[in-house]
Amino acid sequence: MPRIEKLSQSVVNRIAAGEVVERPASVVKELLENALDAGPSRIDVELEQGGVALVRVVDDGCGIPPEELPLAVAAHATSKLRTADDLDRIGTLGFRGEALASIGEVARLTIRSRQAGEAGAAITVDGGRVGEVMPDGCAVGTAVEVRQLFGNVPARRAFLRAPQTEWSHASEAFVRTALGHPGIAFTLAHQPSAAARPRRVHDLPTAASWRERIAGLFGHDLADSLLEIEADDGEIGVTGYVGRPEHDMASGRLQHLFVAGRPFRDRSILHAVQEAYRGLLLSGRQPIAFLRFDLPPDAVDVNVHPAKMEVRFREPARLYRLVLAALRTRFLTDGTTTRLVPPAAASHMSAAPTTPMFPEWSPARESQVADHRPDRPFAQPERLAFSDPWPAVAPAATAVAERPAAWERDHAEPPMAASAARAVQMHDRYIVVESDDGIEVIDQHALHERVLYERLKASVATGGLEVQPLLVPERVDLPPAELELVQEHAAALERAGMRVEPFGGATVIVTSKPALAGDAPARELVREVLDRLAAAAAAGGTPGLLVDEVLHGLACKAAIKAGDRLSQAEVDALVRDRRLVPEAHHCPHGRPTSLTLSRRDLDRQFRRT
Ligand code: ADP
Ligand code: MG
Repeated sequence: MPRIEKLSQSVVNRIAAGEVVERPASVVKELLENALDAGPSRIDVELEQGGVALVRVVDDGCGIPPEELPLAVAAHATSKLRTADDLDRIGTLGFRGEALASIGEVARLTIRSRQAGEAGAAITVDGGRVGEVMPDGCAVGTAVEVRQLFGNVPARRAFLRAPQTEWSHASEAFVRTALGHPGIAFTLAHQPSAAARPRRVHDLPTAASWRERIAGLFGHDLADSLLEIEADDGEIGVTGYVGRPEHDMASGRLQHLFVAGRPFRDRSILHAVQEAYRGLLLSGRQPIAFLRFDLPPDAVDVNVHPAKMEVRFREPARLYRLVLAALRTRFLTDGTTTRLVPPAAASHMSAAPTTPMFPEWSPARESQVADHRPDRPFAQPERLAFSDPWPAVAPAATAVAERPAAWERDHAEPPMAASAARAVQMHDRYIVVESDDGIEVIDQHALHERVLYERLKASVATGGLEVQPLLVPERVDLPPAELELVQEHAAALERAGMRVEPFGGATVIVTSKPALAGDAPARELVREVLDRLAAAAAAGGTPGLLVDEVLHGLACKAAIKAGDRLSQAEVDALVRDRRLVPEAHHCPHGRPTSLTLSRRDLDRQFRRT
């Protein structure tokens, strides 16, 4: 064994950097926290190439005196903590005194800073080498630049993903921080590549309310639809907003928790949120929740995670109960209760067949279905029902291909009348079919979603996707972040038959969609698809996976819903289509599409054996 020796400061810093600086998003987060701790009124963030080439954060806060600049970049040097006792009542976002030292170790860091009425100064740290403090004519406040992250640590640089993926994490870090501080103005600009022009992605003025900040980030449509939450158990308070159950999401992207302006992750609290929505959302769907917790400082410990992403509560069970009760109470007073009634019971109780009684029923959907009711959803010529013919070129590689339309026609399909007697729609949501060895109950939405997805996938794979140009393009207003996603993922959208074009400002127009998507509103398709793209891009999805996410989103929104009444022909077509789809027993989310009651079980139940 070699001798034990004390590590050099540089090595210590680099080890710390391993914990604190994982990717450009971590730099964005640390620099934003520093800026916020300086008491600014505005913060401007600029990134180049997803933050890999540059992260610049500029604030108009208190600034750093020139003589303290070398300390700011030194390890374990902080202005936010003096004694160990201070750790029990941390009022700032930072306190570890590690971030700048760590970042300076693995990148080129420049800080320019000036206090009001004083002269400005700058310091640079390049791969751990600290330069001289130089006079600088900067504005009041602090501007921090981090260039070429991990430029001197090839092993770490190799772990960075494509700039687009890094960008999606970095912008997420920005969004979380801006959400936690509605009273401060923020901007975010991004230059995706050296050749591209920089774009202003967010421009958030000081917001008077949290809802206003949410609107600035995610759009007024979403913000206006949220339900306000407020609860207090005497010591702990929770306030914020949650989504109506019909505004469910494919991902948990819109679940944000804060304590004292600090975003944090907490599985237990998110579980309480999920629990409150139980029975209101289809499995696999995620609710929207923006929640802020108000606790005495000694009830929460923020010093448990190097990157400060997690906090520890003294009484986690108490928070769980509070959140669950707050949301449930809100749903009760909001009339969302009707949704809590199981569908079977609801249909007994309700006289009007159009009463929304199904979890996935939304007001928008309701009016749409109401319009269709007189002449049935599939009567519209532009809506291609699941009984439409297969694309002319059937794919060779899938099970689907082995049974093209002609096969269906020519191979002993039972006559419509006979089949009609054996497949019946019930409660406008289930189809009951006689099978060889029993009775099958099919979830009409889950199965149709599955059928649509398989058809879309097969036709994209063979280049035979039928695209429907829209004579009157549909306009959709998007929040800034989603506008960005449309530009980023134009190729994936186009491959899936969705052409979405900028139309100035926050508006895009949808000029084509896959014919299989029928008359599902463009706005719903676009929302769902972008939600999935955002999550997939953050996970580092390949182009193929991104297209697949788009297809899933399209199938999900274009499929018939629970509550859509079908004609007998449509019921028969859906049951027939089931046999064209490999693994038809599960919808794309993995929920079952059908349940079987075997004849043997029935016989046993009726004591026939
Ligand atoms: P910490 O934030 O945990 O104290 P950092 O390494 O992030 O540690 O920053 C070190 C110190 O540099 C801070 O304590 C603060 O005094 C100073 N500092 C960093 N960024 C800023 C800023 N934007 N404005 C004013 N002071 C700053
Ligand atoms: Mg800090």
